[in-house]
Amino acid sequence: KTMESVQRKYEELAAIDKKHFMHPTSSFKQQQEKGPGFIFTEGKGIYLKDVRGKQVIDALSSLWNVNIGHGREELAEAAAEQMKKLAFSSTFATNSHEPGIRLAEKVAEMAPGDLTMTFFTSGGSDANDTAFKTARYYWRLKGKPAKKKIISRQKSYHGVSVGASSATGLPAFRDFPSLAPDFYYVDSSIEALKELIEREGAETIAAFISEPVQGSGGVNLPPKNYFKEIREICDQNDILFIADEVICGFGRTGKNFGIENFGTIPDMMVIAKGISSGYAPIGGMVISEPLRNELIELTEGVYMHGYTYSAHPMCCAVALKNLEIIEEENLIENVQNMGEELQKGFNWLAERHEEIGNIRGIGLLGAFEILRDQETNTRFSEPVSVKVVEEALNHGLLARSIVYEGQDTLAFAPPFCINKEEVESIISIIDHSLTEVKKKGIQ
Ligand code: PLP
Repeated sequence: KTMESVQRKYEELAAIDKKHFMHPTSSFKQQQEKGPGFIFTEGKGIYLKDVRGKQVIDALSSLWNVNIGHGREELAEAAAEQMKKLAFSSTFATNSHEPGIRLAEKVAEMAPGDLTMTFFTSGGSDANDTAFKTARYYWRLKGKPAKKKIISRQKSYHGVSVGASSATGLPAFRDFPSLAPDFYYVDSSIEALKELIEREGAETIAAFISEPVQGSGGVNLPPKNYFKEIREICDQNDILFIADEVICGFGRTGKNFGIENFGTIPDMMVIAKGISSGYAPIGGMVISEPLRNELIELTEGVYMHGYTYSAHPMCCAVALKNLEIIEEENLIENVQNMGEELQKGFNWLAERHEEIGNIRGIGLLGAFEILRDQETNTRFSEPVSVKVVEEALNHGLLARSIVYEGQDTLAFAPPFCINKEEVESIISIIDHSLTEVKKKGIQ
């Protein structure tokens, strides 16, 4: 196609986009002023291509979710096969279907410890809401209806439904009137949690929730022994421990689930994203065997919670195929190996750029900060990572900057199928882009 005709196509779509398409997490004004950036049309492996034929490396697996990489036809085939056979049937009450049954079994097989039963949702936010409701429901069944407070961590991200945004510890996501009551936040010290429990009373607290590694908060690893101590405190105080595995789950950290890196097992896990590598919208809540048994024993009547698309057959079939591919192709082993390459790359960058610091990561989840002064941990007055991301786009790299309260971070979570040369491409584009940004001057 001629340059002119693809440009015309882009402009036609951009005009419609501005008029009719309200984008998630976007600036309404910027959309009108700038229009859409890329309008993507296809993807293959770690690459995305847009309507104008521009190709970029998808260094965050889109939204930390396209884990097996773009363009896997087996997943399209699994979707088509399921939809031709049975596009939808309800699993409310007692009816069931095979893809839902098989996927629940597969999740139980992959999950650590005795986490064996899954409730399916369409994504992570509704899965978190489900976990909060289920925790409160459980305590009420146990004759402790006052146990309803949910504790989460500062810098956490749990989603945008009313419940999930109320649990989210990044203040920007809570900047709405009338969010849900009974949510409390602690910093990443054990002391803070102990104090909060002391102050509020364990008899009022239903659950503690945390991502094993905080994603949207900037790829923050927990302090040493953090989750072991959390587990102890939760046990001592009859508080359910929920691990939000939406980003970490299904291999991102080099193990099946993120929490497995930290030597403990939660009572519930929240899952989404990587379960289907983004090929179909699906999430869920996984509960432990003892919790399951108690719910069976104590519930009289019906647990009045279910989404129309809980265990959507097509989504389940796609997720199942995705998990099979991860296993068959040993992708989690590749996550471990390429994770090491990524960290090596960060260290190489830090030798060339004195502004790079606070390098961190686990598996194919990695980040570093851009600092004016390493010793005092102070950033530049302008967010430099935003400029680096802008510059990197010109060199074919879609990267993610995370900027808030003193953090000026570049985060990476490439697809599990990435190879060494592709990791090196990411690093070299970042090197080049940061050099360019510095040449123009940073404040
Ligand atoms: N929990 C975590 C840790 C997440 O990273 C996200 C999304 O980024 C969510 C929950 C929300 O999931 P969703 O966007 O599918 O509702």
